[in-house]
Order: sequence, then structure tokens, then C-alpha cells
Amino acid sequence: MTKIELAKIADKQIEKNQEKIFNFAGSIIREPEEGFREEKTAAKVKTIFDELNIEYRAGLAVTGVKGVLAGGKKGPTVAILAELDALINRDHPLADKDSGAVHACGHFAQLAQLIGAATGLKDIMKELAGRVVFFAVPSEEFINLEFRQQLKDEGKIKYFGGKQELIYQGEFDDIDLIVMQHAQSDYPGRKASISAGSNGFIGKRVRFLGRAAHAGVAPFKGINALNAFNIALAAIHAQRETFKDEDAVRVHPIVTKGGDSVNVVPGEVKVELYVRARSVEAIKEINSKVDRALKAGAMAVGARVEITNTPGYLPIENNEKLTRIWTDNAVELLGRENVLSVGAFGGSTDMGDLTQIKPGIHPFVGSFSGDLHSKDFEVVDREMAYIISAKILVRTVIDLLYGQADKAREIISDFQPALSKEEYLNLLDSLTYQTLWQYRE
Ligand SMILES: [Zn+2]
Ligand SMILES: [Zn+2]
Repeated sequence: MTKIELAKIADKQIEKNQEKIFNFAGSIIREPEEGFREEKTAAKVKTIFDELNIEYRAGLAVTGVKGVLAGGKKGPTVAILAELDALINRDHPLADKDSGAVHACGHFAQLAQLIGAATGLKDIMKELAGRVVFFAVPSEEFINLEFRQQLKDEGKIKYFGGKQELIYQGEFDDIDLIVMQHAQSDYPGRKASISAGSNGFIGKRVRFLGRAAHAGVAPFKGINALNAFNIALAAIHAQRETFKDEDAVRVHPIVTKGGDSVNVVPGEVKVELYVRARSVEAIKEINSKVDRALKAGAMAVGARVEITNTPGYLPIENNEKLTRIWTDNAVELLGRENVLSVGAFGGSTDMGDLTQIKPGIHPFVGSFSGDLHSKDFEVVDREMAYIISAKILVRTVIDLLYGQADKAREIISDFQPALSKEEYLNLLDSLTYQTLWQYRE
């Protein structure tokens, strides 16, 4: 059978199940759950896998579900990813009354595409070489860090991002190529886009520790932690002229505690900040400059500074050949004028981490309105969001695994990972640290 014939069979299956896919997505939207708590959402994915007779393992990185379909011949493994989690925005009309969770990042559409693609590929897998993994992954939104710390303390996870944890647990070891599509609402209508990359980041929590004293009677007995931060902030700003334009650096601190009482010299000041940039190298370089600036503030007034780092996500590196295959299929279904190449986006995702170690892509599909994460975000065209988008995924898999899976093999053999898995995990660990710094004569 030709690739076109296979795609037509898959299309028919997807179209026949359109109502079921719509209902599935609707049900996910109605019961949003935050990261590492997506029990009901995962159960819905499992039910569909059972109906489709897709073998799966569940409870991966707490809630992940990994289904697999084998082809008629041996070959590489392509994974289609969909994120299970919602975020918190209590202003959204569909937010859960108790938890505040809401699907304002469109992850429900990814899940609908995942089961749509599984429905379409099921009957044609025998014609393909290799395997397809349908992977519903937990916890993409980097939120509720206290809860994640608790899971970490209980030994249930080591890393705060779902894909980070799955990489660590070896759940991507048997996967060669990765495709996931994310919702976008920047371009209205039936549009798809692929960006030049994204920012990665490190999250930092900082405490300046001075000495409290009466601000009127004996300020000379105090060590002013707020002054330490002021100097640190000026020192951070003094680094900005060294940031390269192409690194798209963002350093954005907030003060979460500036002192206790206006008549007491601040003895403790708490700060949170992100260091974002376009490459791992740049993130590390800027991070060390920021650390230096924080220490300079402490040094100037004789305070101490405690720095706690949590690795955020790494920048996306969309694989070029995979991008081309996906783009051709998007063009076939949507028309050339509706498939856009856009600049890097300022946000971050743990799909970035995966693209540092495996060939992968993270394109965007439209048919949503309202900004991502905002109270207005909603799906406006379900056929595009779930059905047509699933067909793009199916065609991409067919292209990769057709014949002897030559296209997939070519991409795998050409691929030069930015990091090996071991290097990646070492990097995360090297970015996870707590230091208490104090100047000594
Ligand atoms: Zn999001
Ligand atoms: Zn998202």
C-alpha cells in the first residue's frame, strides 16, 4: 500500500470516531487536575487504550501512561506525547472550584490528538516498520513547588518536571524520535506553526541574612539584609550590558519578604528569580554572574546569602529533518499559507529537555482563542484542534516508519545530541544546589 492509501484508511477511522474523541476531550476539560495529581485524566486515557486493545504501563512518574503499538516489521520507535496536567487560574470560568485547576494551556487537545492518532494508526501498523509509543505524560507546568518538594521528600520523584522524571526513570530509553503538538492562540483560524526554539531557565530562591536591630536607637548594631539585596540588584543590572542579544536573557527577581517591621533593620530578605536564556551554556554563564552579584550584595554589608537553585527546563531544539516532515504534512492538510515558521518563544517547557537528548519537535496547532494560561483561553474549532491535528501526527508517523522506516533511521543516524542522558542528568544535578555564602577576611 502507498503512504497515501495508509493515510486515507487512518483518516476514515479517526473521522468515524470523531464524536468519541470530542467527548473524551470534553471530559478532560471538565475534570482538570494539576501535575502529578492527574489520576482521573490518566484513567480516561487507560480506558481508551483498553478499548483500542493497546498495551500500556501506567503510574509512570506517578501518573504517566505509556501505550505501544508494534508494526509489522522491526524498526525504530516513534513517540507521540500528550501532557496530562492542567494549571491553576481561579479566574477562568471552567476552573475547578476546589483546586483552581483549569485546562488553560490546551493539554486536553494533545490528549485528544493522542487517542485520535492511536485510533488512526491501529489498523495500519502492520504496514509499517517499528513501534509507536502513545505517551500521556504528567506535570509539564512548573507550579506548586511545595507539593513537588513533598513528593521528592517521600521519594516518589526526583525532578519537578514530568518529562525530566521520566527521562531519569529510563522511560525514554526505548524511544528514538519524539513528536508532540502544543496549542497556540496567537494566530487565529486553522493554522499551525513551528518556532525557532524557546528559552530554558533556572529557578532561584535567595535569602539574605543580616542582623535585626532597632532602626532608630541602634541601627549601627544591625546588618541590613535589604541593603544587601539592593546592592545585589544593582550588581545584577550591571551584568546586563554583557548579555548577548542572541541569548535572549531574562533575569527577573521579585522580593517575597523585604523585612518584618518598619522600625527594625531588616534581618532577613527573601527573593525569587528566574534566569532564562536560549542555550544551556548561556543559562549557566548568566547564572554564575547572578550568583556573583548576590554574593557581592552580601559582602558589601557583611551579610550572608543562601542560594537555592532548582533546575527549570532546557531550551527547545527542534530537529530539522523531523520539522520538515511534520511541516509537509501540516501543509498538505492546511495549505502552505497556514503553516508558519515563527521566532523563538519566550516560555519554557520540559519538551525542551527531551530535544536536548533525542530528535524531537514541539510545533503548535491553532484553533484556540484567548492567551495561553489566561482566563479567556478556550478551544474554538474542535475539528482542527483534535481531528485534523491527529491526522498531521498520523501522517508524520507514516512518513517516518514507511517501508523499512528509512526516514526515521536517517534522522536517528544523523542526530548529534546536545547532551547524552547521563550528561543531562548530571547537568540537572549540577544546577540543583543550596549554598550559604559568607565573606571572610
Ligand atoms: Zn502551560
Ligand atoms: Zn502547555
